[in-house]
Amino acid sequence: MTKKLENVDIIAFGAHPDDVEIGAGGFLAKEAALGYKVGIVDLTRGEMGSRGNPEIRADEADRAAKILGAVWRQNLAMPDGSLTVDEESIMKVVRVIRKYKPSIIITPYWDDRHPDHVRTSQLITEAHFKAGLKKLEPIDGAYRPNIILHYFLNKMENYSFIVDVSKNYPQKMEAISAHESQFGAAGLKPLAVLGVKAPLQFIESRDKFQGAQIGVAYGEAFWVRTPVPIDDPMKIWGA
Ligand SMILES: [Zn+2]
Repeated sequence: MTKKLENVDIIAFGAHPDDVEIGAGGFLAKEAALGYKVGIVDLTRGEMGSRGNPEIRADEADRAAKILGAVWRQNLAMPDGSLTVDEESIMKVVRVIRKYKPSIIITPYWDDRHPDHVRTSQLITEAHFKAGLKKLEPIDGAYRPNIILHYFLNKMENYSFIVDVSKNYPQKMEAISAHESQFGAAGLKPLAVLGVKAPLQFIESRDKFQGAQIGVAYGEAFWVRTPVPIDDPMKIWGA
């Protein structure tokens, strides 16, 4: 996607080129379909993955972004497998946040078996805070998104709310499947993604379970560090 990049309502951050699809593909497709602008930022090119290479994975990522309805997707080319929460990396993310001014940013949950997912969570959290510091150069650039939503990859513990993604679920699975080098195409067995041998079944079972908890077909859960404001509980639980 090389068209001019525009401001967005939501930026989805992932460590690897398929993370946001796995954790929040239904949510992103839903918001895009509702008319909100969604941007995706992958921190690494996934070059340490057992299969595929950066060029193949970039093509797959672009295809997946189009399926989800994202307006752009970019890659910060940080080192896969060796992400570090240092000043340079934090500032790269700060610049992205300040430039595109999203209201919501999403990032992996802070506990996960993959160290890159953990570090991505830390990096984005630090960058979110720093982006809003008025004395951080350039001083007229201060901007802090309203909220960070944490999505889940391998590990899932508590969560704050579940989004009904039933209508957009086919898009989510199509976007994940666009990552053919990881999830298998003609004759290729899927890799053990997320540490499980049958990642597509793992993802679908989890999303069905999340949906079942709120009485719908498919759901995606998110964790936030702050209370979730609800205007009128009767609108949700009233007769
Ligand atoms: Zn990942």
